[in-house]
Amino acid sequence: MVALGVEKEEHVLRCTWENIEPVPQEPLITYILNKCAQAGEIDALVDGVSGEKLKYSELTAWVRNVSYGWRAAGLEADQVVCLVTPNCILALPTFLATVAASGIVTFANPLYTPDELHRHINHSGSSWIVVHPLFLPSVQAAIKDNKNIKGIYILGNEGKDDVQPVTSLWKEAPADWVCDGASGDQVLHLPYSSGTTGLPKGVEITAINWLAVLSCIGRKEYLDIRSEDVILGILPFFHIFGIGMGLAALSHGATMVTLPRFIPDVFLKALQTYKVTLVPVVPPLAIFLAKHEIVAKFDLSAVKSIVCGAAPLSGEVQEILCKRFPEVTVRQGFGMTETTLAVFASESNEPGAVGHITAHSEAKVVDMETGDSVGPNVDGELCVRGPVITKGYFNDEKATRELIDSSGWLHTGDVGHFSEDGVFYIVDRIKELIKYKGFQVAPAELEGLLVTHEAIADAAVIGVKDEEAGECPKAYIVQKPGKTIDPEDIIAWVKERVAPFKRLRGGVEIIDAIPRSPAGKILRKNLREQPNGA
Ligand code: AMP
Repeated sequence: MVALGVEKEEHVLRCTWENIEPVPQEPLITYILNKCAQAGEIDALVDGVSGEKLKYSELTAWVRNVSYGWRAAGLEADQVVCLVTPNCILALPTFLATVAASGIVTFANPLYTPDELHRHINHSGSSWIVVHPLFLPSVQAAIKDNKNIKGIYILGNEGKDDVQPVTSLWKEAPADWVCDGASGDQVLHLPYSSGTTGLPKGVEITAINWLAVLSCIGRKEYLDIRSEDVILGILPFFHIFGIGMGLAALSHGATMVTLPRFIPDVFLKALQTYKVTLVPVVPPLAIFLAKHEIVAKFDLSAVKSIVCGAAPLSGEVQEILCKRFPEVTVRQGFGMTETTLAVFASESNEPGAVGHITAHSEAKVVDMETGDSVGPNVDGELCVRGPVITKGYFNDEKATRELIDSSGWLHTGDVGHFSEDGVFYIVDRIKELIKYKGFQVAPAELEGLLVTHEAIADAAVIGVKDEEAGECPKAYIVQKPGKTIDPEDIIAWVKERVAPFKRLRGGVEIIDAIPRSPAGKILRKNLREQPNGA
């Protein structure tokens, strides 16, 4: 349970935008399809590598007929469908069709090892899998003994190894087919996050959560999205920022250009060819755009705004970016998977700031010892409340209670303050989470793996600062008596067992004992304060 302190009304900040519309109450899919209907023959999705396109009219037909086909194939309400794919033009339509059929979608990182995928599929209770053909072997290895799986489909037009393509789900829906799915506080999306502590957990995102975001994200104070916009879809859909930008594009009749991964010239060529106007990035991409010489070789004159989130962007990089693109608005947003995208957004270039609280949400900063709310310019833990906050962690009431207090405040585990004008600044993170290039690395997961090594008695993992990646995981390990460990061997051993972003790039250090509290909790602060610490 999170400590409740004394809260002063004048310390609670609320959105000051004019004419805030109430959160729509219809099913999420009805809301999005109504917007799609207005966009008709405009391109909804474009594959940034092959140029393949899907118009809004085709997207609408896809959602309608594939949702019908899902039910005909046996998908039942609230069953979980795991999507294992890099960004491609069929990923969002499949998300929408699954939700329209009353399923719940969880995206898994396609680069997971079979063991990591196994955990994600099992933990989320997934019954169905839709996988990009390249990742079918990992999925097949991951579900070897899983009796819960009712079906697998290949994301695309062609099957492989006796697995049917997802297009085989298309069944002409009768006129009376109700294509809507979840509304209100029904869960429709289960992204994964380790939150403030422990292993990755399923974050229950409801229809209202997404509706609260999508109904205000287009405003000029937030992302200023218009139907003429072309939005880059390079941030992975398995992360809340990536899928959020995809849903934002589709609910504004804009065009999303998908890219499966970052390759510098492919990325820049896509921005140039498709005249991308809005570029969502994580800090390493912002650094690339700010500093790399190759950027100058491309015509990026269509770009109107760059929005950065998922990890801290330094004020210095933001300023360089603003100088290099003087006509472009460079914004920063702050949010978590548990807040369904950003709860703070900056309206214009404000180096180092994450901006104001967005519509429908409230924020306060609390003293880290007492839990009492504090006023302007005082650092403390940032807390947020409102309809964008997750219902809780899937099957994990204890973790939910540790995240959201009995007054509905979500304790972010981030440290920051607000100015007299209500502009927020993030200055530190007190939770365990490590962010490598915006990707979540849960120390508990690496620690759990390390102690399975035959020569390791105990282990602790923290993030060490890295200019390009933000942070890299570093392990402190204690050897078992009589064993001698070469740190390089441990780095290689971990590399074989985890997805690339979790590798121990920060190194391995051998110590005599892991500092722990009397209750057994790892004292990460003590490790950070070591001579070679963070
Ligand atoms: P995720 O759930 O993966 O989006 O991770 C959320 C966490 O990322 C937050 O709690 C912060 O620690 C960090 N984060 C996200 N956006 C920012 C930002 N603009 N500045 C600093 N940290 C951020």
